[in-house]
Amino acid sequence: MSSRYFTEEHELFRQSLKDFLQKEVVPHIEKWEETGHIERFIWKKFGDMGFFGLAYPEAYGGMNLDLFYTVILLEELQKINSAGFSAAIWAHAYLAMTHVNKEGNHDIKEKYLTPSISGDKIGCLCITEPFGGSDVAGMRTTAVKQGDSYVINGSKTFITNGVYSDYLVVAAKTNPELGNKGISIFIMDRDTPGISATKLDKLGWRASDTGEIAFDNVTIPASNLMGEENKGFPYIMQHFALERLIMGINAHARAEYALDYAKQYMSERQAFGKSIDKFQALRHSFADCYADMMMCKEFNYAIADRLDKGDYVVKEATISKLRSTKMADEVIYQCLQFLGGYGYMEEYPMARLLRDSRLGPIGGGTSEILREIIAKMVLDNKDYKPAT
Ligand SMILES: Cc1cc2nc3c(=O)[nH]c(=O)nc-3n(C[C@H](O)[C@H](O)[C@H](O)COP(=O)(O)OP(=O)(O)OC[C@H]3O[C@@H](n4cnc5c(N)ncnc54)[C@H](O)[C@@H]3O)c2cc1C
Repeated sequence: MSSRYFTEEHELFRQSLKDFLQKEVVPHIEKWEETGHIERFIWKKFGDMGFFGLAYPEAYGGMNLDLFYTVILLEELQKINSAGFSAAIWAHAYLAMTHVNKEGNHDIKEKYLTPSISGDKIGCLCITEPFGGSDVAGMRTTAVKQGDSYVINGSKTFITNGVYSDYLVVAAKTNPELGNKGISIFIMDRDTPGISATKLDKLGWRASDTGEIAFDNVTIPASNLMGEENKGFPYIMQHFALERLIMGINAHARAEYALDYAKQYMSERQAFGKSIDKFQALRHSFADCYADMMMCKEFNYAIADRLDKGDYVVKEATISKLRSTKMADEVIYQCLQFLGGYGYMEEYPMARLLRDSRLGPIGGGTSEILREIIAKMVLDNKDYKPAT
């Protein structure tokens, strides 16, 4: 089926991805949710299938495809109901790798982007700190230049792929006195002396490895600086547009998955002599949920289309995440209600969906921060510009 955004090629890709996920990933999800450790072989399989290279240059092994292939990857990952697994994949492919691709020079790309695309190396993006979450500019990690090296000291927290990844993309202050104008981005290997990581326990995203990382006199070559010194903040802000749209797309996809599941369940579950999808109270509630999901989905597609065409959609991506993650939480809450007591049971998908979804309004910019950005752009006419 083709549509305004999806061609027949896209749909063929969607089908082969679905088959792959069912065959290669779904049989392992319960184990990974329990252990919090995604086994290495699946990363390689994703690489072999080309899934990490959808949006990246052919020169480094990618396929340089339009953004709707990424949209399909994100949507189908949500529909196997492990937002933790999905997060591990997209944090590597679209948080860490975006910085490597955009700010890394040729040598860095050869060393990190090529093996990231093939699934041989896994990356993580380290911005958040114990004393600098929403307030990115408040970060305290420093990078001090000494000859041909930088020496990194500080800590990061809540980092997806923070314990098991092979390399780290790290934001640190090169000129602390300059505030957000003194942040730079570095890349470093996991086994660099002085890096240590601890795994965190959490409500949802249980298959994903979320880590706290300490940097104790970590010495890296000066050539591991990515992009220009002190340009880190604009780089981070620029890529937030993609990250936030990704989180918006994830949200509409998991809400759609919840609604599909609830629809089937409601057609089979009997009460008072009929299937529960015949009760008007539930029908109307379902219709509201469906309408809200569709509004977000169509908005997200439109913004993905604009981003793909090169528009700077920072306001729209912010709106996408703000609205879609709220919608997903509400829809999933209601879908769990449609299942009654079964919704509360781990054997059914809603329990995990509900707790996984809760991260949506927090990670990658809380809803409060997103409202601040929208208010500044609309009320104060603030114009965020792409990094040059
Ligand atoms: C599972 C998980 C995975 C994550 N993965 C990553 C990752 O891979 N890389 C990474 O760098 N980070 C990651 N994060 C961090 C995430 O982006 C931060 O948690 C988030 O940005 C919020 O920062 P904080 O937790 O420090 O909250 P805080 O900044 O301490 O905020 C606490 C509360 O205060 C509110 N608040 C703060 N400032 C304002 C304000 N100005 N106005 C109104 N309200 C305000 C917030 O909205 C929030 O409700 C992850 C987090 C989690 C939980």
